Amino acid sequence: MRRLVEIGTGSGYPVRGRGGAAHLVLTDSACLLMDAGEGTTGTIKALDPDIITQIDAIFITHLHPDHISGLPMLLLAMYCAGREKPLTVYMPWDGIKPFNEMLSATYLTSEFWGANPFRILTQPLSTLSPYTFGDTSLSCFPTDHFADDVGKGIVPIRPSFGFLVEYHGKRLIYSGDTRTLAPISDNIVPGSTLLIEAVHLDYKEVVSTARINGVKQVVFTHIAGESEAELLKYAATFPNVLVATDLMEVNW
Ligand SMILES: [Zn+2]
Ligand SMILES: [Zn+2]
Repeated sequence: MRRLVEIGTGSGYPVRGRGGAAHLVLTDSACLLMDAGEGTTGTIKALDPDIITQIDAIFITHLHPDHISGLPMLLLAMYCAGREKPLTVYMPWDGIKPFNEMLSATYLTSEFWGANPFRILTQPLSTLSPYTFGDTSLSCFPTDHFADDVGKGIVPIRPSFGFLVEYHGKRLIYSGDTRTLAPISDNIVPGSTLLIEAVHLDYKEVVSTARINGVKQVVFTHIAGESEAELLKYAATFPNVLVATDLMEVNW
């Protein structure tokens, strides 16, 4: 069993019906959440409330709010659901200290949770070796993410990561936010599924690269409302190019 469930498919300028970036990977050996944007908890509960207590780990690509703003509420929901097993949240190193301070400031610590044994561990993402969960692994790679800053031109958002999930020879590659495909290309092998953001990348270039490399399917996510109609029209001309919606399931 290997499922990808799109929990949140929106981007940094929200539209109704698309939650902030969040992607749930389910295999026989792992339940992993990649990013946790606004609205993550309610959508996971709509899928299956039991998942709240089952998630093995959360991986955050970078610290933009559309990728982390649902995290505090998800942690609170885990506590409310009676979760007991510890949870590790992996994120870029520069988020660890402010994130822990935010947990403390919002009463999301054992000091306020009494006897409940639920503990939250925060760890910096590392590209040195994969994270393994039985026969499922997740590796991270740096992406090419920039933001426009009025008056300064473009400024890098670093560190910022994408993820490669592997399970029994199958590959799911999540782009995170990136302006170019270069960070992703090395991980693509024939049969891969690409979960690709649609805001910063040229989607025609993505599809072209995918076709050349024998990719199984392209799933566009991180959708901007302004360009959605054009993207849908383009994707409809290919049988294996999908535009994700919240709660869409993909067999990768
Ligand atoms: Zn984003
Ligand atoms: Zn971003």
